Amino acid sequence: MNCLLCGTNFQPAPTWRRLFLYEKESSTCNRCFCKFTKSNATIQFDDFKGTRYEGVVDTVTSLYAYNEAMKSYLHQYKFLQDVALAQVFSATLHEAFEGKEGIVVPIPMHPEKLVQRTFAQVDELLNSAGIPFQHLLAKTATTEQGKKTRKERLEASPLFEVTTKIEARDYILFDDIYTTGATIHHAAKLLKDAGATRVEAITLIKG
Ligand SMILES: [Zn+2]
Repeated sequence: MNCLLCGTNFQPAPTWRRLFLYEKESSTCNRCFCKFTKSNATIQFDDFKGTRYEGVVDTVTSLYAYNEAMKSYLHQYKFLQDVALAQVFSATLHEAFEGKEGIVVPIPMHPEKLVQRTFAQVDELLNSAGIPFQHLLAKTATTEQGKKTRKERLEASPLFEVTTKIEARDYILFDDIYTTGATIHHAAKLLKDAGATRVEAITLIKG
């Protein structure tokens, strides 16, 4: 098959065969995949100490660092809208969620943005990894987080609203990238305020 990233023909090796229902061959050649760096960063929540977001997120796991290879991947996936690229990380994501208890909740896109981007990138990453999820949040704000200062981001009115009843159980937020943490904290606070017992987050990338 041909590598999704460089187009070179390669012999795909099965990434794992532990689950009968989920077995997937890698979609990229080894040379391309090696350019992504696993993230070892411990996420600190110091920015949120003393704010109303303190303690709302229990843990965050980010799987990859934001390097050149990841930058070009994201560009191709998100802006050039190549939905097939959701498969690149399906094995890693599947492993990251394996054995976790809790309802997986992807960070939603604003409906206007979804029209521009044509597909929900965050959802597609989960779909391609065979991870069931539920949409429990709706995006209410369109303002780009990146254009705000840290203080503005923390003080902004909620970016989301809860669209259904939240139970007293565990939830796992999923997003493509963790940068300032504002998005995850806003979402986690809504879930906790609505009754969630524990909220952890998994992101593909640490920005
Ligand atoms: Zn390649």
